Amino acid sequence: KPKAIVIGAGIAGIASAIRLSIKGYDVDVFEANSKPGGKLGEIKMNGFRFDAGPSLFTMPQYVDELFKLAGKNPEDYFKYIKLKEVCRYFYEDGLRLNATSDLNKFAKEIEEKTNSTAAEVQRYFKKSETIYEVTHRVFLERSLHKLKSYLHWDTLKSIFRFGQIDAFRTQARANQSFFKDERITQLFNRYATYNGSNPYQAPATLNVIPHFEYHFGAFIPKDGMYGIVKALVKLAEELGIRFHYNQKVEDILYTSESKPKISGVKVNDKTCKADVVISNLDIWFTYKNLLKAIPEPKKLLNQERSSSALIFYWGMDGNYSDLGLHNIFYTEDYQKEFNAIWKDKTICDDPTVYINISAKHIRGDAPADGENWFVMINVPANNGQNWDQLIKEAKVNIIKKVSRILNRNIEKDIICEQILDPRTIESKTGSYQGSLYGNSSNNQFSAFLRHSNFSSKVKNLYFCGGSVHPGGGIPLALLSAKIIDDDINSVVQ
Ligand code: FAD
Repeated sequence: KPKAIVIGAGIAGIASAIRLSIKGYDVDVFEANSKPGGKLGEIKMNGFRFDAGPSLFTMPQYVDELFKLAGKNPEDYFKYIKLKEVCRYFYEDGLRLNATSDLNKFAKEIEEKTNSTAAEVQRYFKKSETIYEVTHRVFLERSLHKLKSYLHWDTLKSIFRFGQIDAFRTQARANQSFFKDERITQLFNRYATYNGSNPYQAPATLNVIPHFEYHFGAFIPKDGMYGIVKALVKLAEELGIRFHYNQKVEDILYTSESKPKISGVKVNDKTCKADVVISNLDIWFTYKNLLKAIPEPKKLLNQERSSSALIFYWGMDGNYSDLGLHNIFYTEDYQKEFNAIWKDKTICDDPTVYINISAKHIRGDAPADGENWFVMINVPANNGQNWDQLIKEAKVNIIKKVSRILNRNIEKDIICEQILDPRTIESKTGSYQGSLYGNSSNNQFSAFLRHSNFSSKVKNLYFCGGSVHPGGGIPLALLSAKIIDDDINSVVQ
């Protein structure tokens, strides 16, 4: 059997390993950490369980597809439910909105409680759907770096419809034209942060994101987000894939011919041979650490990184009936918050706070009289800021804000805490500057300035994960594995 090595057991690395195994390869996965999952990790503390990274699960069909490809029934491995309530929104002026998955109901609630109308919401989602139709095949499901992608009839059709993707104004500007009520503009501006971008700079094309959440749905895995990793690793091991933990790859090896070809990797000073290598590392570290002799694609590597996050994992003594699974507490001045992150590279004193409580659905994630709070704010990527000081200030501001809006002193309920910040995101998951999603999407060319899924210098070397095409987030990371799969011939007899 030909041999494949995957470097990194992030979600895209695991998916790539499964796809290659099904193609007939003998697959080894080398992972620097003691556990699989990368950013998609979990934390256990004092009887509480937390998903460490992603909390919003969309496009579960991309996970199911892997079980189906292996000839298995996805439900035997992995169960999830569709959320009826997508998110609860809280504003400082007292406004509270419950975003239901039933869009008509959500639009009606917006009309009843704000100065915006249901018709505005419907118009916005129609646009969101159009952007999806035009972009998904070209920008998400195929390589942007292969001629054959452009020869499909549906790609050509999409190219003719490019004017409709709203790439030439910012998301914030577009949303201002959709909604009369500023608070609703703010609600939809937040979608830029789903890939670590700034709505005041990023193109309005990012208005495609709500289509994923409302048309395809938002979900929660029955075992929490980490359940995705556990289910896929189980499948992978059944397929015969070998996972090697605490094994940091030191080098990618290739032949010295004029057209080099992959020959393997170096781990613990030992050479492991392979016919195909897929790197799931942040592309920055792949070039800096594992491909030192290959000239770097400077332009791609020097793009602005996406934002990072500061997360407090709080075990809470008490139940909060005002809160649901996903909760957002908006800042009073969104532009100020994004200026702080993107221009001043700091944290403002009134950040938008996201609280995820998986125990609302998965009771076992917290003791009966408690809740597991994942409390996150968006922060700049790490440029050497004084994080200890910023964290101290942010904690005070978050506690004040949430206590004020809920009219309850939350601080006294915090019984245990862990913190993740841009420095630890980098050290624990190998993400350059702790950015969550690779490069930002702050300009209309960003899609073209992500690294391709293959190397143009070394034959049979591939790249998957959130820092390369088509981008960050679980669904896109899974699509990167699919694009690689489409490029590799099956060796099954
Ligand atoms: P990564 O998760 O980046 O994993 C890479 C792996 O490579 C790591 O396990 C690392 O240890 C390993 N590695 C690094 N160097 C080496 C080496 N030399 N040798 C061997 N192994 C190595 N996405 C969503 O869809 N929804 C969300 O709600 C969401 N929220 C997020 C919140 C946070 C706090 C974070 C951090 C991310 C969030 N994301 C979210 C983004 C999502 O987690 C990522 O896009 C996705 O998990 C990236 O997966 P990946 O395949 O790129 O691998």
